[in-house]
Amino acid sequence: MAFKNQEFEGKGTFHRGVHPPERKHFSADAPIEALPAPSEVLIPLQQHIGAPCKSLVKPKQEVAYGDVIGDSDAMISARLHAPISGIVQKIAVTTLPNGRHMEAIHIKAAGIQFTGDQMRREFLGGRWSKEVVGYDPDDVTRAINDAGIVGLGGAAFPTHIKISPFLKKKLDTLIVNGCECEPYLTADDRLMRDIPEIVISGALLSRLALGADNIIIGIEENKPEAIAAIRKAAGGTTIKVAVLKTKYPQGSEKHLIKAVVNRTVPLGGLPSDVKVAVSNVTTITAVARAVIRGLPLTHRVVCVTGAGIHQPKHILAPIGISYRALIEFCGGLTPDAARVLSGGPMMGFAFTDLDMPLTKGTGGVTVLTRDDIKKATETACLRCGKCVDACPMNLVPSRLAVAARHRDMPLAEKYKIRACMECGSCAYVCPAGIPLVQLIRVGKAMIMASSARK
Ligand code: SF4
Ligand code: SF4
Repeated sequence: MAFKNQEFEGKGTFHRGVHPPERKHFSADAPIEALPAPSEVLIPLQQHIGAPCKSLVKPKQEVAYGDVIGDSDAMISARLHAPISGIVQKIAVTTLPNGRHMEAIHIKAAGIQFTGDQMRREFLGGRWSKEVVGYDPDDVTRAINDAGIVGLGGAAFPTHIKISPFLKKKLDTLIVNGCECEPYLTADDRLMRDIPEIVISGALLSRLALGADNIIIGIEENKPEAIAAIRKAAGGTTIKVAVLKTKYPQGSEKHLIKAVVNRTVPLGGLPSDVKVAVSNVTTITAVARAVIRGLPLTHRVVCVTGAGIHQPKHILAPIGISYRALIEFCGGLTPDAARVLSGGPMMGFAFTDLDMPLTKGTGGVTVLTRDDIKKATETACLRCGKCVDACPMNLVPSRLAVAARHRDMPLAEKYKIRACMECGSCAYVCPAGIPLVQLIRVGKAMIMASSARK
């Protein structure tokens, strides 16, 4: 059902999806605090979709805050910057929460550091102009490239490529994704409530680079304070706010486009196929910082939340800091903490090691307790069809899982396993406790590995 008097063409929602408990209350009212300058960071050489960076630094080399320390000649990549001043220790190998191993630059702090408060002022404070008349679109794109910005909602696709001429078809609409539909997580909500002006600045600059006509900021209706703050800050501009039904996965690009402008991205297609670009709220704020203040993407706001953490917080933290340091800044884990996730409970990955480094695309850490993760023992499929009713991609998750379990990849391909966005809705509703999304992930990984060998 469409919202009354709405300023956008979509119905404010999409077909299927689920309604998991929101659990945003743990962190929603925590202000954004800056982490004090850390003693060391570990910067993975690939934090984006595309080619990995090569290290531009060597052990024992001195680096200053903001120096470019990793880059690539490949068309799709995103450069890396030093988030602290210090001395390079070594090029180590690290593992990320999704299980990928890669090289990383280990830097120990040395010399004068920016304090957390200075960082907060630079990154989030001061005035953010709505005036973009003096900017050149090519300069905006260049600043985004120079700053190493990637999609900060989790996709980590290089932002300068998204808006570069080789992909640029004539787009008419920039949709800013302020849904934050994943349970628990509240960093985007907090940014919109506390600093809506930076979101508006970044959106206007991004539209300029894209050459789009319209900007619509999509926000779920469970964030009334963010909606009011963004509406007020957008006053005097042509930016519209689309208030959307609260439903998971509303923040998925394809479902957001459907809900806001009622267009369907074809299977295997891109938003640009329907004349739309989508950018997350946090990404948009990085664009404003890069263009207006020349700041590279060295820090981001992370939400650390859940019943298993003593003091849930929003933290302005340097890329490369360990998750252990973030958790300690929040007072540590509670005695009944049982699982730490990178991201939220629907799409997140469980940590095997808290010393892993924070990457650009991670906006949340969720700590679940023993009570949270109690679940039914797995039984045989009941053929109830609930997973089919939940799947927002119109797939048949039960069949995909069977194909993956039996390593029958031609069958998995037949059922369109590649179209699965790993949203976890099917596993959430399954009364038989079948780990559908985990099985599908394994199936997709096997297909990717076999394609890479060919
Ligand atoms: S099959 Fe994939 S897209 Fe469909 S509900 Fe399951 S995880 Fe989500
Ligand atoms: S929801 Fe679970 S039990 Fe029901 S059909 Fe799907 S896989 Fe089978």
